Amino acid sequence: MNIILLGAPAGGKGTLGAELTKILNIPHISTGNIIRQNIADKTEIGLKVAKLISKGGFVDDETVNNMVLERLKQDDCKNGFILDGYPRTLAQAETFNKFYNIDYAFNIEVDLDVSVKRISGRRVCVNCNKTYHISKLESENCPICGNALTIRSDDKIEVIKERFELYNQKTKVLNDYYNKKNVLINIDGNGTAEQTTNAVLKILKEQI
Ligand code: AMP
Repeated sequence: MNIILLGAPAGGKGTLGAELTKILNIPHISTGNIIRQNIADKTEIGLKVAKLISKGGFVDDETVNNMVLERLKQDDCKNGFILDGYPRTLAQAETFNKFYNIDYAFNIEVDLDVSVKRISGRRVCVNCNKTYHISKLESENCPICGNALTIRSDDKIEVIKERFELYNQKTKVLNDYYNKKNVLINIDGNGTAEQTTNAVLKILKEQI
């Protein structure tokens, strides 16, 4: 089953993807995570894009397309995948469409004030690659490895506005693109992570 997760920044796509991968047994592939890993590892791509990411910009289409198409060649993707954060532009969607069909494009809809609240409390562990919300933490350290948690460079308040603008300019159009392909399903993402996951699972159960 080939799934993509669409929606504005901090709509809960990462959390949803992490839940769905356990239930559906297909990999959760987040381009944001792959890019952040490249930055942490100081790879050629990481060094090239680090500054741009911290300003909220998009990595160029060719780099991201290659990154995703290479990842999907791996054996764990043979029964499908959950793509989170890709495609993000019409050009990416059109390239991807030449190689893969999509069964479901879940568009996670979240009100702006909810997204902003989620972003401002988001903390990440660069060691475990896990994301948390400060409201659910007992300290500013990773509950798994104890590493000091950090704020994503693109979660700084001055960068958030740029990310929403780019979403509206470049990514939102993908809802129409996948709607025309009859695979778009809008999901209310304003509730808890569990509610969002259950809404997606309900759809999948109805249609399988
Ligand atoms: P995310 O974790 O999905 O919010 O992604 C973090 C950042 O990585 C984004 O703000 C972009 O700078 C970059 N990024 C992730 N996915 C893509 C993509 N498909 N195209 C371009 N840039 C991306």
